[in-house]
Amino acid sequence: MLSWDNPGDRVAIAQMNSELQHAQLELLSAHCASHQLRLRFTLEDLARFGRRDILRKSVEAAASLNQYYSSIEAKIPRATEAGQPASLSETQIPEAVAMLSSYLREQGEHYMRIAAPLSNLQKAAMWPYFSAVVLDRVRVVELNGQRISNPPFYEKARVLGFENLPEWTHMDSVTLGDVILFNEKLTERALFHGLVHVIQFELLGVERYSELFIRGFLSSKHHFSVPLEAHAFSLESKFGANPSDRFSVEDRVRLWIHQGRY
Ligand SMILES: [Zn+2]
Repeated sequence: MLSWDNPGDRVAIAQMNSELQHAQLELLSAHCASHQLRLRFTLEDLARFGRRDILRKSVEAAASLNQYYSSIEAKIPRATEAGQPASLSETQIPEAVAMLSSYLREQGEHYMRIAAPLSNLQKAAMWPYFSAVVLDRVRVVELNGQRISNPPFYEKARVLGFENLPEWTHMDSVTLGDVILFNEKLTERALFHGLVHVIQFELLGVERYSELFIRGFLSSKHHFSVPLEAHAFSLESKFGANPSDRFSVEDRVRLWIHQGRY
């Protein structure tokens, strides 16, 4: 049996899914062709005037496919049945937290090597929302369209039935501890947003941040409704609407932690 823990198997699983998709498209085309027959001819006419050999082969193929897919259906784990939202049990959450936090840490270390400090102009625009200490410490990487890929465990999560996972590829920025990656250009708003996450990381720690993110996602099922994210967007929009209304992001984040709003 294949296992997610074996890197060689992960390749095989990806290949399996591509072949499954191919088979599904072929089935869809068989389904369409049969639907045309159904629309144009009655069952009686088909049975009476259809070539016997072709009819028999078609019936055999359909019956054996039905048997094959039904036996797979019987083995699909319960949680992924249609209509049942995917979830993680309390015992699975620590495993997911460990996976996400070590990935964030590892990617942060990787990008730290090629990251650059903020320019004086950028620091001036972000002060006093963020302290000078934070602005001196943070590093940024502009990928200019090269785009960061989604974490490797996304494939496993999708197989478990998780949809709407935050698409790293499509985000303006991704924060990894003290490093902020920008998929495209670094804009002031995107920088502000990334810095809010830097403060959340700093005050919560990467493990707690990961746990709150996962728990928030499990209950809201949407990236933008996860409180950590919703707060970053709301502070970013305050900044965008009125840059002269100065406030300390650290104070706001501390308040939310204190009030248990994350
Ligand atoms: Zn964000």
